[in-house]
Amino acid sequence: MAQTLPPATVAAFAAIVGKDHVFFGEDDQASYQDKFAIDDARHHPAGAVAPATVEEIQAIVRIAADRGIALWPISRGKNLGYGGSAPLLAGSVVLDLSRMKKIDYDEANGTVLLEPGVGFYDLYDFLKSRGMKHWLSVPGNSWGSVVGNALDRGMGYTPYGEHATRICGVEAVMADGLVVRTGMGALDGAPTWQLYRFGFGPGWDQMFVQSNFGIVTKMGLWLMPAPESLMGMDLEFDRPEDLGPLIDAIAPLRREGLLQQSPTIGNWLRAAAVVTTRDQWTDKPGALPDDVIAAIRKKFNVGWWGVSLRLYGREAVNKAAYAILEREMGKLKPMSLRPTVWKTGEPLEATGWTGTPLTMPMQNANWHGGRGGHIGFSPILPQSGAAAQAQFQRTYARYKEYGMDYQASFAFGERHLINVNAVLINKDDPDLMGRVDPFLKHLIADAKAQGYGEYRTHLDYMDAVAGTYDYNKGALAQLNRKVKGALDPKGVIAPGKSGIWPSRYAGGQG
Ligand code: ADP
Repeated sequence: MAQTLPPATVAAFAAIVGKDHVFFGEDDQASYQDKFAIDDARHHPAGAVAPATVEEIQAIVRIAADRGIALWPISRGKNLGYGGSAPLLAGSVVLDLSRMKKIDYDEANGTVLLEPGVGFYDLYDFLKSRGMKHWLSVPGNSWGSVVGNALDRGMGYTPYGEHATRICGVEAVMADGLVVRTGMGALDGAPTWQLYRFGFGPGWDQMFVQSNFGIVTKMGLWLMPAPESLMGMDLEFDRPEDLGPLIDAIAPLRREGLLQQSPTIGNWLRAAAVVTTRDQWTDKPGALPDDVIAAIRKKFNVGWWGVSLRLYGREAVNKAAYAILEREMGKLKPMSLRPTVWKTGEPLEATGWTGTPLTMPMQNANWHGGRGGHIGFSPILPQSGAAAQAQFQRTYARYKEYGMDYQASFAFGERHLINVNAVLINKDDPDLMGRVDPFLKHLIADAKAQGYGEYRTHLDYMDAVAGTYDYNKGALAQLNRKVKGALDPKGVIAPGKSGIWPSRYAGGQG
């Protein structure tokens, strides 16, 4: 099953990075495999090579181009639920950048310039050692790389939670070996690389996000100045139909900027899936019935939906904004409203809202026991209560039809909602695994019928999701292919990523 590289090619890689940094044994292949893969053969890598410098990356790219090898760049490879460290195309060589861990910190301006191997924990420890003058924004599971997460449009919970929009300046190695710096970085020696996003002429930072157009070796990011105060409330709502009014109440507050953070409305399974396993609640197959849902809600004292709202910044401003939040949320008659208040100098709770890295939320992979995992389904919706309510009803009905336990959230952006659904799996349960693929395909088609598309997806669904972006006979896909052909004619970098296939794989992989 596993594809192997000729020994001479492995030796050529080893000559560049040293023999301790090439990984082509069977165990190595398994360790770079997607732990949550539905089909283990589909994304099996040939192995991995781990360079430490830009020059080493250039040399690897040259060999890959000469010998027709596909490289799959990862930063730390913790993209769990979307493919982890595995390549889309079986037989690719993973280009593991986790050894590159340099952090440049501009404390006065609140920016960092990071190499791909810097993890959220690394950056957190670094900032802490310098007095925590800036806070991080971390994703729910913060194992991964700050750069890798931003490159896949990961999200956090603070006002800086939309990570891709905080990028300011990128350095990348292109498929022909050229090293480019975007924005002000193109002006050699400019002190403004991490300060002004656009430079002169076209702005290319976003070209490297969710694409296969280059290998990012440095990324500038803006950090949030540590706030004087953090205030907010945790709310629970009793009924499934409370979702729509809640969204319609939060959306104008988010748009006007009273709420600068992006709240996430989640259902009852969130807490249960993290600290308990399914067999503690029921031994019956099929989606959890209402009596079990009621038992879970009672035990964790949660509603059908819950949401946390947070205000960051000056205490006087937060107090004024809090009074407005309290009034607006009170109108919805929540089951419970728990205020939270923090001020500089007080001990800080370790949560996503304080930008503290956590791995706990990943425990939901154990919900079914066995070799557990989760796969995401995440369409973008308008910020409309009616649209969200309808999407919820449609999706929940499909979860029941396929016998899946419903775990979902509706996360606010500035103008949109992301409806993140987790499909909890167990690779030791063939019956469950047999339902996962048709279920996800159904969800993608249901969303498309409403004009909704996913913002991010697992390797298995990149072609399907790219195919839903079909305006004018797939004009965007044609543009992406043309750009790919111009920049990477030999198809060296991440073939198939986001549905973008180089011409040598015409029509996709199969
Ligand atoms: P994390 O460890 O934060 O989860 P990953 O390293 O798994 O992030 O990266 C997520 C995805 O982003 C990868 O699968 C890959 O497609 C892309 N990616 C990551 N790092 C780079 C990079 N340095 N250059 C280009 N693409 C990258």
